[in-house]
Amino acid sequence: MSIWESKSQTVKGRCHRWLWAPRGHHRRAAGFFLSLCFLSIPIASAQRTQLKPGWNRFSPQDDITLGKRAATDAEKQLPLCNAPRVDAYLTQLGTRLDQKLPTGGVPYPFEFHCVNDKAINAFALPGGYVFVNRGVIEAADNEAQLAAVMAHELSHVALRHGTNQATKAMLAETGLGIFGAVFGDSTGGALLTQLGSFTAGGVLLRYSRTAESQADVMGTQVLYDAGYDPRAMAQFFEKLEAETKGKNPPEFFSDHPNPEHRVARVDEEIDKLGGVPPNAKRDSAEFEAIKREVLALPVVKKPARGAASAVATPGPPSRNFAEYQASSYMLKYPDNWKQYPDSNGGGVSFAPEGGVVDDGSGHSALAYGLIIGVAQAKGDPNDWNALKSATSQVIQDLQRSNPSMKITRQGERLRLNGQPGLSTYLSNASPAGGQETDWVVTVLRPEGLVYFVCVAPQSAYDNYDKTFSSVLDSVRFTK
Ligand SMILES: [Zn+2]
Repeated sequence: MSIWESKSQTVKGRCHRWLWAPRGHHRRAAGFFLSLCFLSIPIASAQRTQLKPGWNRFSPQDDITLGKRAATDAEKQLPLCNAPRVDAYLTQLGTRLDQKLPTGGVPYPFEFHCVNDKAINAFALPGGYVFVNRGVIEAADNEAQLAAVMAHELSHVALRHGTNQATKAMLAETGLGIFGAVFGDSTGGALLTQLGSFTAGGVLLRYSRTAESQADVMGTQVLYDAGYDPRAMAQFFEKLEAETKGKNPPEFFSDHPNPEHRVARVDEEIDKLGGVPPNAKRDSAEFEAIKREVLALPVVKKPARGAASAVATPGPPSRNFAEYQASSYMLKYPDNWKQYPDSNGGGVSFAPEGGVVDDGSGHSALAYGLIIGVAQAKGDPNDWNALKSATSQVIQDLQRSNPSMKITRQGERLRLNGQPGLSTYLSNASPAGGQETDWVVTVLRPEGLVYFVCVAPQSAYDNYDKTFSSVLDSVRFTK
């Protein structure tokens, strides 16, 4: 179950599904800074569409810090091309483009990496860490089309779409723990990072159609300013659509949802820029050489979705329990499960060995175990209606990031350590393959809506039911 996200493909497979991301409670006064920066407008731009980043609770420096951390994870987890000439070429091309990118004066440390994945996709992490799948290089007809994809990604960076999304998610759900999980904490080691980065990655790379359209428009401007034929942007999208008619859409569209009238909007921007310059660059001998080199790279097979977990089905939960003490409650959990605390102390997950799996796309997701978090909510802990409405809010948020999630049993009243609680059952696609059952128990507390999400594949749920009940029975609120 992914608290945040689950698009279908990743970096490894779905693209932007990246696994990374951070969260940090940074509330800096970015607004003033940004409004100043974006007063500087490139010359010769009287007609062009003016774009600027949306409201953001993070500072541009946060983007760099978060992106750097996520990029380090990405480099460890993705199959990279390991082809120095290809990386050098991407860096050279990327640099030509990022020099024309309106960053408002922020010195983003741009980096460009080739990912050995034949899926046509690319992604950029906040701060300027750009990953281009070999599939994009192979699919591009010329250098201008590759430049178009990279200019689009760079525009997400300049427009700070990742942390803008995260800001919105944070407002919706401050307490879910996402912003405390990974950032600045090493308690849980690598798995914590994966678990956390998975959830955060969902937030940082889940772009809206509006963001996509903005990235197209700014990307077109960057292409134009860098001397490339700006029509390449629309041509690449048209090509993707034409080639995949009747088949699965390319990954690029699952990470970069296709906005309405995409091609027409790009054409309109080209008109605003004054049309295609007569000497606009389309291709280079270098691109053709690099494309040949990429085509010859060994193919890295992606694990089939859920395959990883099939070999790693967790052993049964221990009957011996260990104690966990949080700031406002304590509970007991099977002593062969591990804890994955969030760094802000608000959330924690417990999972058996093998319970956190790669969902086949490079994301780590919890397939077996328990997630505990606190969502922002106010209300009298004894008011059933307040509990009900806070619970449905949290479930709606979960459904937003888990589109196949359905309620299978509506909220039923129960008591948790004597406090009014609601029990709701959901079904969702399991990262281990097949369907999973999610038993969600919620309680209103002074700190917000405390939720316990018990997760197991449907086929194995009966083996966990008793354990989940024992864990919940052991909950003691301490203040
Ligand atoms: Zn995009």
